[in-house]
Amino acid sequence: MTLESFVTLGKKRIEESGIECADPMLHMKQILGVSIGLDSLNFYSRWSEPLTDAEIELANQFLERRLRGEPFQYLVGYEWFWHSRFNVGPGVLIPRKETEHLVEELLKLRGSESLKIGELGAGSGNIGISVLLERPQWEWHAFEINPESMPYLGRNLGELLPLDAKYFVHEGNFFELSKDFAPYDVIVSNPPYIAAPEMEKLSREVKSEPRLALVGGEEGTEILKHFIAASFQFLKPGGLFLTEIGSDQGPKIKEVLENSGFKSVEVLNDYSGLPRIAKGFK
Ligand code: GLN
Repeated sequence: MTLESFVTLGKKRIEESGIECADPMLHMKQILGVSIGLDSLNFYSRWSEPLTDAEIELANQFLERRLRGEPFQYLVGYEWFWHSRFNVGPGVLIPRKETEHLVEELLKLRGSESLKIGELGAGSGNIGISVLLERPQWEWHAFEINPESMPYLGRNLGELLPLDAKYFVHEGNFFELSKDFAPYDVIVSNPPYIAAPEMEKLSREVKSEPRLALVGGEEGTEILKHFIAASFQFLKPGGLFLTEIGSDQGPKIKEVLENSGFKSVEVLNDYSGLPRIAKGFK
């Protein structure tokens, strides 16, 4: 079977499968290219040539995984975030573009000071690694409860950060462990904030990602509320609290922050104009 015929057959299967895909032809080319390790130049120069048996087997494995709804990033094994390439795969949340706003906000802080930062939910390490690459004098305490994320986090730290970086991984529950390292200058998170009933309506791709990293309770805001109360306790006076929120949670979270004692509370929009970040100072 030639590359061309494999792509034509696969494209049809993608169309029939109902997975998230804007351009089935292009997507099938990407799946085939990634599975057998061809860049676009080599891909098109072999377009009318036959695949080997080993290549067909590999390509079929990748296609079947994708047709079951596994995100493309899990097949490729990475996703770009800020300026770096993060290893991802089943068991870890795929970094999202909108989360880059947290990095932007953090980098607005004065770089010369040595700050201690706590993070709920490190995932792939995307936020902390991106920030420490630009602010190597800062100290980052990342708390991650999901053991399946750990191999990705470890690999990303090893590949992306220098050996003397002050990035500390704490495996376990933020609410139990973070007080041991308090007080912090900053507490930050992209926490789980999806309501459990909403999760059922999301795509197969999102459902393939770790539930622990996504679902914030029946209403969605349960973990956020707990996180806000704990952060007020563990921040230094004047310290910054910064979190990603669901686009419909702005007014609610602003109220919770103000009622918890935070000052100068603001909700900021993402690039598409949706409320996405809440911040306040102790
Ligand atoms: N910090 C990671 C991210 O933003 C993981 C967040 C999480 O587990 N909810 O992608």
